[in-house]
Amino acid sequence: MQVLHVAAECQPFATTGGLGDVLGALPGALCAAGCDARIALPAYGWLADDLRRGREQLRFDCRGQPVRVVEAPRRAAGAIVYLFDMPGLFDRGGDPYRDADGRLFEDLEWRFARFCEAVARALVERALCPAAWVHAHDWHAALLPHWLRRLGFAGRSLLTVHNLAFQGWRADRQAFVGLEDDVLADAAHADGGWSMLKAGLLGADRVSTVSPGYAREIQTEAFGCGLQLAVRARAADGELHGIVNGLNAADWDPRRDPALPRPYGPDDVAAGKAENALALATELGLAVDASPLVAFVGRLTAQKGADLIAAAGSALLHRRARYVLLGIGDADIEQALTDLDAGSDRRLRFCRRFDAGLARRLYAAADLLLVPSRFEPCGLVQMHAQRYGALPVATRVGGLADTIVDAAEPAGSGVLFDADGRPGTLLAAIDRGLRLVADPTELARLRRAGMRRSFDWTRVVPRYLELYGVRSPAGTLTPPAGMAGIAREVRGPAGRPPAAAAENPS
Ligand code: ADP
Repeated sequence: MQVLHVAAECQPFATTGGLGDVLGALPGALCAAGCDARIALPAYGWLADDLRRGREQLRFDCRGQPVRVVEAPRRAAGAIVYLFDMPGLFDRGGDPYRDADGRLFEDLEWRFARFCEAVARALVERALCPAAWVHAHDWHAALLPHWLRRLGFAGRSLLTVHNLAFQGWRADRQAFVGLEDDVLADAAHADGGWSMLKAGLLGADRVSTVSPGYAREIQTEAFGCGLQLAVRARAADGELHGIVNGLNAADWDPRRDPALPRPYGPDDVAAGKAENALALATELGLAVDASPLVAFVGRLTAQKGADLIAAAGSALLHRRARYVLLGIGDADIEQALTDLDAGSDRRLRFCRRFDAGLARRLYAAADLLLVPSRFEPCGLVQMHAQRYGALPVATRVGGLADTIVDAAEPAGSGVLFDADGRPGTLLAAIDRGLRLVADPTELARLRRAGMRRSFDWTRVVPRYLELYGVRSPAGTLTPPAGMAGIAREVRGPAGRPPAAAAENPS
């Protein structure tokens, strides 16, 4: 089975969060299972060295845009990576979506639309590589199914939605240049404008998202971000699938993690975590005492509920606990956490940066990891926390509910609470977590259950192979439904255009 993954992010080339983690691991895990999985990625400015040292595969012109495809000298967990060098579009600093000052690129949608056409032409017209499936990820690659169909691609397409809130939405139709009018109709929002993601939802042979819980939620108005009708149509086709993300269990193993001052395993978890907590307190200038350590790792956005942590404010400090919050994001949340840190008498440290090593030391040191997301397609941090014996305190939504078992259950490994947007509810959940941490027997039980779970990609790969049609254990895999009927059903009113900006840092 040959599969070309197409995305905006892929570890170690470009990442701002879970999307980069997944692309850095899933194609590699598919390769290990015997697939020929490769990756197409824009050649961002910081990949100049890879471009220089890589092997040129193709050079062509796409709508007046020169395109060079270079096989990178390094791989992503064993998977070949093709860098699409498109001068003027991607050879910039910052991150995949923003300039170095954190401003979204003006031509954000345009450049990824160009990327989609270039990948499709490289594949269909220039035979870049064999591919029975093109696996497109998020809105950045969501026009691919349409370009492939337009160019007569013989294979099939799967679109994985990592976050429905980011839709590649614009008030103008520029991104759709070169595609037929019916694609525009698929992409149209009732209130005006067009969404690349909506076009992809309707145009892909299959659609998946990154947890069964999120696959159910996005069919509702509350979580559908205005696209619930399109999502429901694919569910009605039997072509909406929910597959929880994985992690590399060997890489996320506190016994062998070189980032930790003191490696530990399930047998010496209490002592190991205590030593790591002490080292972290010293590293960050946090008060040194025996109180529990509560952590947060993630984007400082409303999605992640980071504003609730900021709003809880000094009430956090009235608990017998210390806090370390690691993340970057919305300026007002960053400011509130900076102020909280300054007035905390060293009981709370806000680390405003992206620091993969510190994240690992935090999972190892923490007793509780806060994940108060308002919605969460899958989430990786709660899996990392459980592997490292930290109890997630998380909202009962999406992938969090699919990957955490509440402490009330025999197999419990964390605290789940219902999201209601109130800091008081988060504080009550933290209090419940602190009570569990204070009970050595309960704490040992919950840690053991979490650390025993591998979450490894090897558990996930067979599900994707089913989607590619390689395996069908129940023998019930249906052929992909035609696109025209579905498009007719949901064309037209599809809810409001997304209020959020169109980038996907997920
Ligand atoms: P997202 O919605 O951002 O993709 P996930 O939980 O799925 O959220 O994945 C986030 C990933 O990025 C995790 O691997 C997490 O450890 C990492 N991460 C997020 N913020 C930071 C940060 N500030 N420093 C280091 N790692 C981070």
